[in-house]
Amino acid sequence: MADLPSQWTHEPRKILRFRAGEKVANIDTDATPGYTGDKNGSTEVQTERNQRFAGLQEMLYANGKAGDSRSLLLVLQGMDTAGKGGIVTHVVGAGNPMGIHYTGFGVPTEEERAHHYLWRIRKALPAGGHVGVFDRSHYEDVLVVRVHELVPPEVWEPRYDEINAFEKELVDSGTTVVKCAMFVSLDEQKRRLSERLERPDKYWKYNPGDLDERKLWPAYQEAYQAVLDRTSTDYAPWHVIPCDKKWYSRLAITELLIEALKGMKLTWPPPDFDVEAEKKKLAGL
Ligand code: ADP
Repeated sequence: MADLPSQWTHEPRKILRFRAGEKVANIDTDATPGYTGDKNGSTEVQTERNQRFAGLQEMLYANGKAGDSRSLLLVLQGMDTAGKGGIVTHVVGAGNPMGIHYTGFGVPTEEERAHHYLWRIRKALPAGGHVGVFDRSHYEDVLVVRVHELVPPEVWEPRYDEINAFEKELVDSGTTVVKCAMFVSLDEQKRRLSERLERPDKYWKYNPGDLDERKLWPAYQEAYQAVLDRTSTDYAPWHVIPCDKKWYSRLAITELLIEALKGMKLTWPPPDFDVEAEKKKLAGL
């Protein structure tokens, strides 16, 4: 396990990968699978791994500039307070913004509703050389839509297969897809929501509607179970991320991104000019 900090006893991409038969109801959201370190040492590890991610991300971007059409897409799904925003800030945020394409998916606009649900998703896909981040995603169309019965079952039911086909097409066209299902316990969610109500700098994150969603947790669990059971594929597997410890979920997702970028076997693109000739020219100026 070269290139993994020594605190990892197992590779995150293996230990966190959703296994057939695994139950959402049994996820230990407070666990730190594969990691022996604790919160104290985590900041140091995070800083170091942020740099590793940033280096690889820059290499991907450089390749994109040189015409490489490959990209990476991070899909973040999770209930409110799971920490999606923190991943965007503290993990992806370590990269060079020039090569990051962030999209948050909220309630569809009138225009979006007039189209197929994948329309807005396709528009947000990362271009070659970019890391795309979906803060919520097409999975909302089989999560909130299913839980709230926004469309009848005969409409959402075929979407699982359709999403698989869509992601296959994406992967075949050169996008590495990293899917993270982020889970917090109801207790931890309550603590985080109450913090949002205590601190003026957190009010902006609070939405009274979050409490209604909280009441629907059993229905969401069922919907998340279906997502994991039916859309974790060889080409785009789900990773189950325990999120009660923010420091752990950040470290874990950082490693998933590093691993995915390493899997692309990137190298710095060669110059498309004569380096020696340019040096001579520059020296004479
Ligand atoms: P967040 O809560 O992640 O900070 P927003 O407040 O912008 O972000 O909006 C998220 C809300 O939009 C969530 O309640 C989510 O369920 C909802 N949403 C996202 N996609 C859809 C969709 N396709 N249909 C209905 N609601 C959706």
